[in-house]
Amino acid sequence: MINGKAIYTPKGAAGEYTKYACNFYVGCSNGCTYCFNKRFGWGSVPTLKKCFKGSPEYALQCFEKQLEANMPELRKHGVFFSFTTDPMLPETINRTLWAIEGCCLKDVPVKLLTKRVEFVDEIGEVNGRIVSFSDKFHLFKHNIAVGFTLTGHDDLEPNASTNAERIKAMKKLHKAGFKTWASIEPIIDFGSSLKMIDKVIFHCDLFKIGLESGKKYEPAIVQEFVSKVLFLMRLEQPNTKIYFKDSLLQQAGIRREDLPAGCVNRDYDMFNQ
Ligand code: SF4
Repeated sequence: MINGKAIYTPKGAAGEYTKYACNFYVGCSNGCTYCFNKRFGWGSVPTLKKCFKGSPEYALQCFEKQLEANMPELRKHGVFFSFTTDPMLPETINRTLWAIEGCCLKDVPVKLLTKRVEFVDEIGEVNGRIVSFSDKFHLFKHNIAVGFTLTGHDDLEPNASTNAERIKAMKKLHKAGFKTWASIEPIIDFGSSLKMIDKVIFHCDLFKIGLESGKKYEPAIVQEFVSKVLFLMRLEQPNTKIYFKDSLLQQAGIRREDLPAGCVNRDYDMFNQ
């Protein structure tokens, strides 16, 4: 268990995404109507967490200190960015890139989750040349997994990159040799989520699939969705892995141990396959 200012062990459903996570900011400008973080009163302007006392430098010092202090555990499980904001927003990306670099140099795997794509083609300029994410991190691509949330509902995510842009970005990064994963959560409607899975099935190493938080569903409808996802996987891409979240399986009345091969547990390690 890690409980630091920058890196910590998430509890509850967030723990299904990762054992260790890093949040530098709270609040997010993507403006998703379903954003769970609104319950905590965090707004649309990403703000450095209070514990960092308004100092980005102090935030990075805390991160570095915790990275050093927990190296064996972090090397084993990696660090996830982020639960309390989108780590690739114009306002947050500099801190994230710095932290990714720190992880890479210490051989700590990185897991990103974003709804933005600008960073894929451009993260800065060196000697008049535009530098892409692949340019900067190509030596470490075996240790970086880039995840995109795919709902198929741009209308509910007004300031994020579109779902089509995210799909294109995922394809590009996968082709460049990075690990890629998709968060199919929240499922707004089952048809849109199936479409999203189908569109990236050859370009995605892992799907994490979850319902809309707090919503009740007919078990038969959720069961039908699970069957369709499994059918799609078997037919199209038998090597891709799927993690169905606990709450989805509960609502479907399906036991995890009854799922077929290809369905993984929360602690599945994308980096050692
Ligand atoms: S991207 Fe995530 S944190 Fe940002 S508004 Fe959307 S749901 Fe909230």
